Amino acid sequence: MRKIVIAGNWKMNKTVADSVKLAAEVVAAAKDVKNVVVAIAPTYLALAKVAEVVKGSNVKLAAQDVHWENQGAYTGKVSADMLKEIGVDFVIIGHSEQRTYFGETDETVNKKVRKVQSLGLTPIICIGETLAERKDGRLEAVLTTQVNGAYAGLSRDEALRTVIAYEPVWAIGTGVTASDDEAQEAHAFVRGLLAKLYGDSVAQSISIQYGGSMKPENAAGLLAQKDIDGGLIGGAALKADSFLGIVTPGETIHK
Ligand code: PEP
Repeated sequence: MRKIVIAGNWKMNKTVADSVKLAAEVVAAAKDVKNVVVAIAPTYLALAKVAEVVKGSNVKLAAQDVHWENQGAYTGKVSADMLKEIGVDFVIIGHSEQRTYFGETDETVNKKVRKVQSLGLTPIICIGETLAERKDGRLEAVLTTQVNGAYAGLSRDEALRTVIAYEPVWAIGTGVTASDDEAQEAHAFVRGLLAKLYGDSVAQSISIQYGGSMKPENAAGLLAQKDIDGGLIGGAALKADSFLGIVTPGETIHK
């Protein structure tokens, strides 16, 4: 059975004090959640403090990025060891904002995935097409390149410890959501790519989140789709009640 994984990506929002406050609200609101893996991803700066808040709760800690080297002269970067030390469980890798603004490529995504994997952390691998790519009929080609790139060199067992976030770039932060059918179609295609790489049983075990303006109003419809196993949430994760409004419908869904 696949897990429903719902993660809040707080991006570059919230001071440390505000992050601690929101984390405490999420912990309290999610205390009875049983069937959904809930995670929150504050800024690097707030991670250590938020780690103290989520400790012992059923809310997992996620980082928004990582560097692939262990240590050294990489100004501004944070290593997977450092994230592991403070209790991080998930690492978001290859977010479209990293790809668009900070030069992330399929190759750097792969290096990061392999590094966090080697330390037992779970990567949330973000993929997705731009509007121009979709309009040009290149959706499948883009997803194929991104999936093959991210998973290059990963064993079957390592692949089993990954999560994918399918995030159409045109839906991120825009208020425009993929329809249930559009999202399901892309998710089924991605699962098919995983099946080609690792066989059907591995493909059926990997959770594939949807991301892109997911909110309480559209969560139930998206989460009910056969191949949608959770969400990566931006804007709606910045308030505990809207975030939990996405988690709650996930509680009743079994894949
Ligand atoms: C995201 O940043 O991964 C995201 C999906 O953002 P939003 O929910 O705001 O579209």
